[in-house]
Amino acid sequence: MKAINPANGELIKEYRRHTPDDVFSIIKKVDHAFLQWRKTSFNDRARLMTKAAEVLRKNSNEYARLMSLEMGKTIKESRAEIDKCAWVCDYYAENAERFLADKIVETDASKSFICFEPLGVALAVMPWNFPFWQVFRFAAPGLMAGNVGLLKHASNVPGCALAIEEIFKEAEFPEDVFRSLLILSSEVETVIRNPLVKAVTLTGSEPAGRSVASIAGDEIKKTVLELGGSDPFIVLDDADLDFCADTAVQARMINTGQSCIAAKRFIVVESRLQEFEQRVTQRMQSLKIGDPLDEKTQVGPLARNDLVDDLDEQIKKSVQMGAKLLIGGKRVQGPGAYFEPTVLSNVKKGIPVYQEETFGPVLAIIPVKDEQEAVDTANDSEFGLGGSLWSQDVLKAEKLARKIETGAVFINGMVKSDPRLPFGGIKKSGYGRELSDYGIREFVNIKSVWIA
Ligand code: NAP
Repeated sequence: MKAINPANGELIKEYRRHTPDDVFSIIKKVDHAFLQWRKTSFNDRARLMTKAAEVLRKNSNEYARLMSLEMGKTIKESRAEIDKCAWVCDYYAENAERFLADKIVETDASKSFICFEPLGVALAVMPWNFPFWQVFRFAAPGLMAGNVGLLKHASNVPGCALAIEEIFKEAEFPEDVFRSLLILSSEVETVIRNPLVKAVTLTGSEPAGRSVASIAGDEIKKTVLELGGSDPFIVLDDADLDFCADTAVQARMINTGQSCIAAKRFIVVESRLQEFEQRVTQRMQSLKIGDPLDEKTQVGPLARNDLVDDLDEQIKKSVQMGAKLLIGGKRVQGPGAYFEPTVLSNVKKGIPVYQEETFGPVLAIIPVKDEQEAVDTANDSEFGLGGSLWSQDVLKAEKLARKIETGAVFINGMVKSDPRLPFGGIKKSGYGRELSDYGIREFVNIKSVWIA
């Protein structure tokens, strides 16, 4: 398994893949660890999870550098990601017991209550775009609930996968409570079908989600799917355009545009179109592209060269089909996986950047005549992850937010994940929720106890 630096195409390190025997043995060990782990108190788990947060903070620079090297995230974003992982560990250390406390329910029984019990081995199939965050938002609630974790990380971030396993060791979690498997996606099926694996969560693309969910479905195992998105960013006629344009660029360019909740379709009412185009174009042009390890870099490379090819294809086709290229539009020549910050306008239904998810620095503007068309266009997508709405009339915006078919709507702000709020999508963006009290209850047995 090779880790390649996307900033220059050079090999960072080659890792030995786990053999089928290794995989079998690791699953057995993790399941064995569950027998003791499930009996630990919330206090003990919280103490260790708080320690994991400390380890993250202590070694933040080392982990941030590893992420930036393996997948090209700017070093500032990498450090912020480590901070956020520490936050989610602290959050569940503080709140898991409350979220999973027995709940008394009045019925015809002398006493009836609901309790929440761990399921056992949970498999997480994770993507490279937030190599630490995606894993911690699964692992922190999962381990606090008493489950044990198996990680199959994306093949281009093996160093991150092993570093995360080490964090739990360094925090003195019992052996094998959390393990990483260095395997290919084609080997995931055997893991899901292993009877010791009780649940599967996947964050990634729609085809991967479909495959994993159908195998898990065949085995009658619970799944959570966090898939792609094509979030609308709706600009109404009374939006504060200065702040809105700043946020538009930030919301599109986070992680060089490779975020599931990045704003991807900018739906702008015609009365503000010209102003919006000017402002975002100017801001996109001023971004500094470069080495992700350089503190001043604002836009790094994409995570792999094949992703640049895919994006290039989407942009070429979109322009051929009538989208107006305002800036950018092609790969940056050289060995790195760089793509120019790009703005497209006049985007219409049927054009790839309208229909498909774009995973890169491409801001697509869809002009609409009014609010109603803006909402209809926002909902005209097979995805339903997040969305944001820009208007100074907050009451009106709140009413419109309820009409938008996504797992989250942010008014006058950028869509972001927050441990305190549930995160997830509808439609082809997946199902189930992570984070908050909803997330921790996905992989537990919600058990009713009734006493005569
Ligand atoms: P991906 O190709 O689907 O890979 C994600 C993970 O799934 C990797 O570990 C990958 O392993 C594995 N995988 C791929 N195909 C598989 C299959 N058929 N069976 C089992 N496992 C399989 O996605 P990506 O390109 O890494 O990530 C980008 C996508 O993730 C985007 O669509 C993005 O929107 C979505 N995403 C969603 C969220 C969310 O929370 N909703 C968050 C982040 C990203 P290999 O690397 O070995 O192929």
